[in-house]
Amino acid sequence: MQRRGLLALGRALGLNGRLEAPAASACSRAFSAQPSPSDDGDGVPDAERPFRASDLVVERSTVRQPPVDLEALKFGAVFTDHMFVAEHAAGRGWAAPAIRPLAPIALHPAAQVLHYGMCAFEGMKAYHGADGRMRLFRPEANMARLLRSAHRLQLATFEPQEMLACLKQLLVLDSGWLPAREGYSLYIRPFMFSSSGVLGVAKPIATTASILLSPVGPYFKTGLSPIALFVDEHNRRAWPGGAGDYKVGSNYAPTIEPQVRAAAAHGTPQVLYTFRESAQHPDDAAFEECGAMNIFFYIKQRDGTRVLATPPLAGTILPGITRDSILQLARSWGAAGGVDDVVERRVTLAEVQQAHQEGRLLEVFGSGTACIVQPVGSLVRVNGEVYTAAPFDPEAGLAARLQRALMDIQYGRVEHPWSVAVE
Ligand SMILES: *Cc1c(COP(=O)(O)O)cnc(C)c1O
Repeated sequence: MQRRGLLALGRALGLNGRLEAPAASACSRAFSAQPSPSDDGDGVPDAERPFRASDLVVERSTVRQPPVDLEALKFGAVFTDHMFVAEHAAGRGWAAPAIRPLAPIALHPAAQVLHYGMCAFEGMKAYHGADGRMRLFRPEANMARLLRSAHRLQLATFEPQEMLACLKQLLVLDSGWLPAREGYSLYIRPFMFSSSGVLGVAKPIATTASILLSPVGPYFKTGLSPIALFVDEHNRRAWPGGAGDYKVGSNYAPTIEPQVRAAAAHGTPQVLYTFRESAQHPDDAAFEECGAMNIFFYIKQRDGTRVLATPPLAGTILPGITRDSILQLARSWGAAGGVDDVVERRVTLAEVQQAHQEGRLLEVFGSGTACIVQPVGSLVRVNGEVYTAAPFDPEAGLAARLQRALMDIQYGRVEHPWSVAVE
């Protein structure tokens, strides 16, 4: 009772730290598979140590890896010298976050992530700016989305600005890995998962947060070129009331088999998911998105107006930052830029079928951090129908113009608040 009173008083006075276990023991306990319970028997959880960039410990790598062959870079296959790692234990809070040499992460074999897919991730990039400075694109949006995903999985939470500060330090340390070449970048993979070594399907009591950096080349070595997508009318990526609008690992594992199957049957590199209620006609299914890209349709209406449409964020669509940026840019361009209307609404197979038949399907393209914009030349249905967009125009086409505008911002060739210098 007395300790409880002391704790409450300590909290009121902002003295939490003084009543916590010493830092060293908090740290060693945080790294064990099963952290000790969150209180010391009085029923009152100890105050949790917050995530602070000022606690960051840096251990430099003594080994330098051989220089990368930029021509032979495969996406996400090469990693920089260092990684960021932070561990949280329920009741204790965050141990001091660390930047250390890239190395395997040891996990208890019962870690929940290995059994229940309890992991969330982000995808972002650092760019070599026109002024020689390293630049990020809307990084606060990625940090906010990671926090939202972590909360959906009941992982430990963190202050997004503190995580961003840690990321910047990692970037500065490994800045030598950023290729100073057009179209190249450092792909950034922040991720969090449950390292709780407890088999129960329950709220994680241990969370690991980490960040990896990977130099990547241009998504399109020879400029933008359209791909074909298989329209999947059977498998669902997400559904109303599900978790499709969170960047959590469990949304991705089940998409591999449909993608492999479509590739074998139709030669399409990716799948475009759809959704319909079971009572609806197949043609009334609505397009959703690809496995890791949002989708846009640029359609000429019968009255001649040109509409840019993308499915709405109603719970089954991942809220892409590229998607949002494209919507904002296209809205700012307006009719003068070739878009009379920019809308977030359902786009059905029937609408696209008609637009294709009447020659009004101007463009289809995907969007995401990796590709920025991915033109889609044709949509292949299981019934054999193929809906084709007008011939791709790499100069004046809308997808091409959006790609150039976004890259100009990302590489700092134009001044824009979305582009943030790291140092
Ligand atoms: C990450 C992702 C996107 C693209 O999001 P960006 O923030 O634009 O990179 C789109 N769809 C899914 C399913 C994704 O996982």
